[in-house]
Amino acid sequence: MDRILVTGGTGYIGSHTVVELQQSGFEVIIVDNLVNSNVDVLCGIEKITGVRPIFENVDCTEYVNLDRTIEKYPGIKAIIHFAALKAVGESVSHPLEYYRNNLVSLINLLELMPKHKIENIVFSSSCTVYGQPDVLPVTEDAPIKKALSPYGNTKKIAEDIITDTINANHALSAILLRYFNPIGAHPSAEIGELPNGVPNNLLPYITQTAIGLRSELKVFGNDYNTPDGSCIRDYINVVDLAKAHVIAVQRMLQKKQKSDVEIFNLGTGRGLSVLELLDIFQKVNKVKVPYKIVGRREGDIEQVWANPARANKELGWKAQSSVEDTLKSAWKWELKLKERREK
Ligand code: NAD
Ligand code: UDP
Repeated sequence: MDRILVTGGTGYIGSHTVVELQQSGFEVIIVDNLVNSNVDVLCGIEKITGVRPIFENVDCTEYVNLDRTIEKYPGIKAIIHFAALKAVGESVSHPLEYYRNNLVSLINLLELMPKHKIENIVFSSSCTVYGQPDVLPVTEDAPIKKALSPYGNTKKIAEDIITDTINANHALSAILLRYFNPIGAHPSAEIGELPNGVPNNLLPYITQTAIGLRSELKVFGNDYNTPDGSCIRDYINVVDLAKAHVIAVQRMLQKKQKSDVEIFNLGTGRGLSVLELLDIFQKVNKVKVPYKIVGRREGDIEQVWANPARANKELGWKAQSSVEDTLKSAWKWELKLKERREK
């Protein structure tokens, strides 16, 4: 059984990826310091797959601890590096926390890879590196724009750090996955997104409003240059996204990649506006979401959606889930959280 190290594996995307890795026959070691996740996620993973992943409560910024942890598990074939802080607003008020956490973690891993003879790394990047693209749908070859937040900048800098490192050491390979907007939960509702405090992201805000935790959704702007005036994003099902990581790892282990660093957009190829997503959510779940239009949110991109052709062709990966099913899974998860709170 090939061993994979998953940093940030108790987090939202990480936990869904751990499930898919286990179901594809990999042994998973999770490293997470639980700064934005809960150890109970391991029970959810175990309920789905029947296997409790190995878990190490370690901060990736702590080199010595990370080194000792990796030492404990010889023969790791690849790292999937999810661990990062991701709140855009917080990164503006606490930039150094973001640069330290997100970049030191990455540098530690890249330094430890040759030491422990680990050749492959998959990195969680983001479509935020494109800023507002000049051409839509956006391809991987689009220019990288100046980041609008320290968080976004950590993704841009991390991509450069990885590329430079791999150019200097051809024994290493990397796949950079640029996610669009991951949403939804595992269809079993055993795992899903667990936002800390008031959600920053649209879908958890919608589900929490629908369940009565929030009084109304604020739609940030209806005066954009889009058909209904609200912003457009490419919402990608989190399980579909997770599956792409398994394919990326398999590709690296089979050394099928064409170059030392490959970059893939992970999106559906379809853009939906905030108001469209809200409308579909209410229809498929037969639930009302009170909302009001407010002013624009600072730093928001007007519209972005992916051209996922490269991932479709090279990885043989395609987003499969309909947005309707994805929005149902998000609602099922919110209902499950309510049930847990009431127990
Ligand atoms: P998440 O916060 O749910 O998961 C991140 C996990 O990393 C958490 O469990 C957290 O406890 C852990 N972590 C953070 N810093 C750590 C450290 N120093 N050491 C060990 N563990 C640490 O976030 P997510 O949505 O699952 O995102 C995963 C990755 O994908 C992140 O790198 C994020 O920037 C990236 N990404 C997310 C989105 C999105 O919309 N969710 C979009 C694009 C990219
Ligand atoms: N959005 C909104 N109300 C909210 C949260 C988000 O109208 O409470 C909008 C936001 O302006 C953006 C879209 O929903 O147009 C997606 O926002 P999110 O923060 O989820 O993702 P990102 O902006 O990082 O793509």
